[in-house]
Amino acid sequence: MLHSTRTRRAAVLVPILALIPVATGLVPDRGAQPPEPANRDASEVAARIVTASLLDGQAYDHLASLVAAAPHRLSGSPGAAAAVEWARKRMTKIGFDEVRLEPCTVPHWERGEVQSVRLTAPASVTGVELRCLALGGSVPSPEGGIEAEVIAISSWDELAQRSADVAGKIVYFNRPFDLALRSTFEGYGGAVDQRSRGAVEAAKAGAVGVVIRSVASAIDDFPHTGGTNYQDGVTRIPAAAISTLAAERLDALVARGPVRLNLELDCRWHGDAPSFNVVGDLLGTESPEEIVVVGAHLDGWDVGHGAHDDGSGCAHALEVVRLLLDLDLRPRRTVRVVLFMNEENGLAGARAYARDHADELDRHVFAIESDRGGFTPRGFSTNAGDEALAVLRELAAPLDEIDAGSVDPGGTGADISQMAASGVPLAGFLPDGARYFAYHHTENDTLDKVSERELRLGAAAIAVLVHAVADREQPLPRNR
Ligand SMILES: [Zn+2]
Repeated sequence: MLHSTRTRRAAVLVPILALIPVATGLVPDRGAQPPEPANRDASEVAARIVTASLLDGQAYDHLASLVAAAPHRLSGSPGAAAAVEWARKRMTKIGFDEVRLEPCTVPHWERGEVQSVRLTAPASVTGVELRCLALGGSVPSPEGGIEAEVIAISSWDELAQRSADVAGKIVYFNRPFDLALRSTFEGYGGAVDQRSRGAVEAAKAGAVGVVIRSVASAIDDFPHTGGTNYQDGVTRIPAAAISTLAAERLDALVARGPVRLNLELDCRWHGDAPSFNVVGDLLGTESPEEIVVVGAHLDGWDVGHGAHDDGSGCAHALEVVRLLLDLDLRPRRTVRVVLFMNEENGLAGARAYARDHADELDRHVFAIESDRGGFTPRGFSTNAGDEALAVLRELAAPLDEIDAGSVDPGGTGADISQMAASGVPLAGFLPDGARYFAYHHTENDTLDKVSERELRLGAAAIAVLVHAVADREQPLPRNR
């Protein structure tokens, strides 16, 4: 029944689709050889999904609705609770077969009202504020702030060499994001250790506070927040990020002579709070017990809208199922959307999912996560072994039509990575990365930075791969 519907619709659509590009000369004629029947069918399905998303997609509506209902979604906050309720309702409205809230326990940290990095020396700049955001998880400073001399440090080696000079000072970690790297994710990876480890390493040497250059690709006045870590037995010192523009100014000052600043934060820790992953199933027609997970994280930082990080991923995931339902493309296996809680500052949702579903992870045939923004799709990265990699490449090949068919080994997603040990082949959605680190974790990560068409293309690309994996006769080979 389902299959005949599929074939009939495809038969009507495809000749029209096939004619347009050739007739308009927009794409090269790939020669007289028609594709093999199996590939042709896959191409037809892919074309239907992409066309439906471009013409009538609702990915942007999901995103606009989410950021209106819950612009700030940091774990444990009222905004995160509103996002959970929003997601439950949205899944129900889309028509998922089953929608569940699955409990997890999350940390609850609040930024507070005061965050200030103010220059106090030299005299020529006294009183100048450097735009800053507390790092997520930071302890507060004493009221009135900490006033101390700045020591600029650009590498862990330098910190070790100058550790005798650090006591009583504010360490300023100033290693920039390497803009020469072709992948902005590598650029981020090469600088983010200052944010995650800086407070611990500086405190070990006796520092009283930490300021970092925002881990960002743009030179502007929007500081980037993000999680910082502490370590038991090491003094917890306050930590903030200054904008890249402020960092350039501070670099110039430090090069000329001693600089002092006042760092004031009134962040608060509220201990643990109950929260939820939101899970929705589109049940498979033949093997509903076999599961393909489409993941994204529902939480976000408490600045901006988290529109790219990771509202777009949530919109992608929801739209995958809406498209499949709309096109009557319910696959053989279950497609499960998991909107994880607490990716940004703890991964509690991801751990709870892997723990609570441990007995069925051997029936999770694939998991994909979208957490790199809502930009133009380029392809996928995967941890799949050679066998599964070859299959994924074949299944994604129809996406070459929109330049999104590449599948290469690489990082996948923080939430789904909790399933890696069980042998589940994982993939990360890979959109264009040029702009992501200009926006993420800032006041600037707002809805207007997301292109509706790019978001629709991304949702379609993920839907094509997910449908192909979930509807394939054989499950994807597992990782060993
Ligand atoms: Zn994210």
